[in-house]
Amino acid sequence: MRKRLADEIGRLDKEAPRKVALVYPSPYGAAMSSLGYQRIYRAIMETPGMSCERVVLDDDAETELAKQTRPQSYESGRELADFPVLAVSVAYELEIAGLVALLEAAGIPPRRKDRDGRYPFVLAGGPLTFSNPLPLAGIVDAICIGEAEEISIQALDTIFAESTHAARLDALAKIPHMFVPSHHGEMLPLVAKVPEEMLPAWAPIRTPHAVLSNMFLLETERGCSRRCTYCVMRRSTNGGMRLVSMEKILATIPADARRVGLVGAAVSDHPKIVQIVNTLADQGREVGLSSLRPDRISTEFAGALKRAGYKTLTTAMDGPSERMREMLERKAKVKHLIRCAELAREHKMDRLKLYLMIGLPGENDADMDECAAFTTELSRIIPVSLGIAPFCAKRNTPLDGQPYAGVAVVTDRLDRLRRGLKGRADVRSTSAKWAWVEYVLAQGGEAEGLLVIDAVHAGGRFADYKRAFAKAKPRRSLAIAAV
Ligand code: SF4
Repeated sequence: MRKRLADEIGRLDKEAPRKVALVYPSPYGAAMSSLGYQRIYRAIMETPGMSCERVVLDDDAETELAKQTRPQSYESGRELADFPVLAVSVAYELEIAGLVALLEAAGIPPRRKDRDGRYPFVLAGGPLTFSNPLPLAGIVDAICIGEAEEISIQALDTIFAESTHAARLDALAKIPHMFVPSHHGEMLPLVAKVPEEMLPAWAPIRTPHAVLSNMFLLETERGCSRRCTYCVMRRSTNGGMRLVSMEKILATIPADARRVGLVGAAVSDHPKIVQIVNTLADQGREVGLSSLRPDRISTEFAGALKRAGYKTLTTAMDGPSERMREMLERKAKVKHLIRCAELAREHKMDRLKLYLMIGLPGENDADMDECAAFTTELSRIIPVSLGIAPFCAKRNTPLDGQPYAGVAVVTDRLDRLRRGLKGRADVRSTSAKWAWVEYVLAQGGEAEGLLVIDAVHAGGRFADYKRAFAKAKPRRSLAIAAV
C-alpha cells in the first residue's frame, strides 16, 4: 500500500471531520481505472467538512474471496468498520461478491437487516444501478440510482446530519433518485442525470499500478444516442448523448499527462474526435479510447489513432453474423469491419481486435460458421483477435428477459468457432460459467443478491453459486437449469 501511495500523482490529501470510506469491491488496479469511482472521490474531497479514504478488495481476493484480509483504508490504515459511512461503487453483478467479502472481513454483517446504528451506514451507487440494482437491496442500506456526483453528496450530507439509522433511512427515502429498499420495496426511482455544466468527469489520480497505467482519464461525452438492443447505456436510458466541447476537454488535461484515456459510452461518436486525438498526438501524448464504433473509422481517424500510439485497432463486431447484428440494431456492417481491417493495415498497426457476444437469442451454428468465414477473410488483411463474451440479458434493455443460452451451448459454439477458424485468429472468451452467474443476478432481485452471501460463505467458486442459486424461487425467465 505504501509503495502504491508513493507512486500516485494527483491524490487529494485532506482531513475533515465527516469521514467516508470510499469502497471499490475489486482490487486497486481496477478501482484506479474507474472514472466513476475517481469522480466520486473528487466530489467528496471537494465537499467542505467531508473527506474520504479508499478501501478496495485484496489483489488475490478476486479469485479467492475467502482470503480477503481485514480491510483498511489506503490513506490512514483505518479499519473499514471504524468509518461511520461506507460509499460503495459497484460496476457490475459479479462485484457484489467482493462487497460481501469486504463487509464480512471487516466484521460488518453483510445482510442489511442484521445491521443497525452500531454499524457503518452502507450507501451504494455505480454503473450497476443503470440496469438492475435490486440484488444489492438486501445488502446495502440505500442506493444512488444513476449519475451520482450530485446525489451521492446530498445523501452523505443527509446521513451525517441525522443521528439515528431510522432517521437516516427516512430522510434518504425523500431524496429523488435515492432507492431505500426498506422503504421502497422493489419500486426503483428514475435514473439521476447531472446538468451538462458538471461534465466532464475526470480522474484526479494517475498511477502505474492501475489497469490503465499512468493514464489521465476524462470523459468526452456522457450517454449514447444509439439504441443497441442489449445495451444499458442506449439512448432511452438517459436522454441520449451529452457532448463535452473539444476546448473543455483539452483544457482539462494536465500538461504533464503523457497518456490520456478518453472515456464514454460512445467516444468515437464525438463530432470532433479526430481533431481531439490529433491535437493530443501533436502534444506528444498517447491516447486510448474506451469505445470505437467501426462505422466511424475513416482514414483520418485511423491516422490520428496511429499517431497517438495505437498498435491494435480495437472495435466491435458485436454479434457473430449479419443476422445477429441486425437483431442487436447495430449499425456496424461487414463493409465497415473490412474497412477497419484495411485501415489498420494501411496505418501499419499490428492487429485488429474485435469484441462480440455469442449465445444471442435466435443464434445457431450457421451464425458461428459465418463468423469463422468472415474472420478468416479479415485475417487475410491483418492479424485478428476476437474478444468474446457470452450474452447476458440486462434489465432496462429491449432484450431484458431473454434466457441465458447455457454453459454447454456457449462452450459448443466457441468450440465450433475455433474449429472453423483453424487457428487463423486468436480467440479469447470470458467464462461461460461466470456469465451464467452474472445473468442470474442481472435478471434477479433481492433474493438472488442475498444468495451471493451463501455462495461467498461456501468459498465463492462457481459450484458454490450453482448450489446457492438452486435455492432461488423460479422467477420470470431465470433458467437455473441452463447450467
Ligand atoms: S452498445 Fe455502445 S453504441 Fe450501442 S447503445 Fe450502447 S453505448 Fe451506444
